[in-house]
Amino acid sequence: MRRTVIAGNWKMNMTPKAAVAFINELKTMTVGLDKCDIVLCVPFVDIAPAVEAAAGSNIHIGAENVHFAKSGAYTGEISAEMLTEIGTEYVVVGHSERRQYFAETDETVNLRTKAALAAGLKVILCLGEVKEERLSGITNEVVSMQTKLDLAGISAEELKNVIIAYEPVWAIGTGLTATPEQADETCGVIRNVIRELYGDAAAEDITIQYGGSMNDANAAELLSKENVDGGLIGGASLKTDKFITIIKAAN
Ligand code: PEP
Repeated sequence: MRRTVIAGNWKMNMTPKAAVAFINELKTMTVGLDKCDIVLCVPFVDIAPAVEAAAGSNIHIGAENVHFAKSGAYTGEISAEMLTEIGTEYVVVGHSERRQYFAETDETVNLRTKAALAAGLKVILCLGEVKEERLSGITNEVVSMQTKLDLAGISAEELKNVIIAYEPVWAIGTGLTATPEQADETCGVIRNVIRELYGDAAAEDITIQYGGSMNDANAAELLSKENVDGGLIGGASLKTDKFITIIKAAN
């Protein structure tokens, strides 16, 4: 049975002190809510205090990116081993903001995914179409190609530690949300690519999240869809009252 995973992506928000205060509050709110996994992907400097604050709860801490090299002359980058040593469990790879502003490609997303998995991290792999692709009717082809390229060379065993976040780029941070039917259909397309690549069991087991302006008002309907196994949430993960409503919808 696949797990529902509700993950927050804080982007470049929240100082370490603010992170600890947020987690302390969320911790008390989430007692007993164990039907979904809760993940907070936070800025690098927040990770260590966040891991400490979340200890003993159902809140797991993730990073927002990772480099693919083990170490070396990559000024400003962070390796997978650096992340695991401080208790990081998850990492977001291939977020559209990384693809858009930091020139990441399916090739580097694939390398980062491999490096993260090799170090024992769980990967939240983001992919999705831009507005022009949706309007031209090529969404299915785009997400199928991204899924294949981003997962190239990743074994069925490694895939058990991959979550796919379907994030239509036009819906991220824009207040526009895919309809529940669009989200369900495209997550289903991705699941069928997984079926083609890895077989039925892998397709049924993999968690596929929707992300793109999911919030306290629309989460229940999106999460009720067969192929939507959780959410990757930006803006609405920065306020405990909104985030807890989404977590409760998933429970
Ligand atoms: C995201 O950052 O992955 C995201 C989906 O952001 P938002 O929920 O703000 O659209």
